[in-house]
Amino acid sequence: MRTSARTPRWGLIGASDIAATRMVPAMRRLGHGVTAVCGSSAPRTTAWAAAHGVPHATTSVEDLLARDDIDAVYISTTNELHLPRTLAAAAAGKHMLCEKPLALSLADAWSMVDACKAAGVVLGVNHHLPGAATHRRIRELVAAGAVGRPLAARVFHAVALPERLRGWRLRDPGAGAGVVLDITCHDASVTNALFGTPVEATALTVRQGPWEAAAEDAAMSVVRYGDGVLAQTHDAFTVAHAPTGLEVHGTDGSISAVDVMTQDPVGTVHLRDAAGSREIDVPGRRDLYEVVLEAFGHAVRGTGEPAVTGPQGVHALAVALAVQEAARTGRTTPVVLSPAAAR
Ligand code: NDP
Repeated sequence: MRTSARTPRWGLIGASDIAATRMVPAMRRLGHGVTAVCGSSAPRTTAWAAAHGVPHATTSVEDLLARDDIDAVYISTTNELHLPRTLAAAAAGKHMLCEKPLALSLADAWSMVDACKAAGVVLGVNHHLPGAATHRRIRELVAAGAVGRPLAARVFHAVALPERLRGWRLRDPGAGAGVVLDITCHDASVTNALFGTPVEATALTVRQGPWEAAAEDAAMSVVRYGDGVLAQTHDAFTVAHAPTGLEVHGTDGSISAVDVMTQDPVGTVHLRDAAGSREIDVPGRRDLYEVVLEAFGHAVRGTGEPAVTGPQGVHALAVALAVQEAARTGRTTPVVLSPAAAR
């Protein structure tokens, strides 16, 4: 693995909303450099760069990757471009943080992992939830036996899709539209970290929003994990007033965490067991994207791992793809994890 002691200087591939609203501000708060942005339209990318104080704008991925004042690339294009942009960045020897879902197929996602490994560059996946202080605390509680043997989880992740994001997410299946690739894969990043190996999924999806959608905008799924844990999810773009949350139920206790499936370091965690119900202290809250970027910086220095590694990102995608397939066919569908089976 190539390592570098320097604080990352980023090249952004994708003049996106998430880069503008979350990632560039988080990079700056951590003192990371933001050198250049690459988008597909010259006027829009130039305007984006000016609006966000990024010194260089280009429409050429090759030009961006050829810069020697860029150490790492953040890929936040629409989903179908994650694969070619990752392969190009790996070939150019750049470390990279790629948005979720890692790709649109498991074979593509594993090929991204392989390419980064072969090039000796770090691949992190920008699932922001597992590194949140609330989720770390919940994993600690479960690992310490606070709920006894885990039996079930319920994930509430139904939100209202902001008006500014009602484009390709609703209308372009080729870009990876739909709530399952958008949100269910985030749920899986949380439940996989809690329960280990996802085995099979069953699901129903619908289109229920006040828009012309070419993909599902609401989904409910049940995923069975290896130890017989059942994880149920409700994901939607159509629900304006529900809190998000995660419940974990075990033989000896139940955790109820509210407002924790979010982009901000908020939310509460309660534990209920034979001793009663109490709020659990959640130390170390910080911006969720800073956590991802800081871990990425450690990985580049060779002193740690990304918050969510390439294989962990593939496993989250595998659950989402099984949920999609289960909803399409009406059948319980195996979650395919291994690279060999994916190809
Ligand atoms: P955006 O729609 O804002 O951006 C995606 C791409 O669409 C951009 O790279 C840009 O292409 C193009 N685009 C954006 N706005 C315009 C416009 N006004 N006119 C023309 N083209 C435009 O997507 P998001 O930021 O919502 O999502 C980007 C990625 O990040 C996705 O993979 C998504 O799943 C992920 N994501 C992750 C989140 C997380 O918490 N980890 C949260 C939100 C999104 P170009 O750059 O080529 O010009």
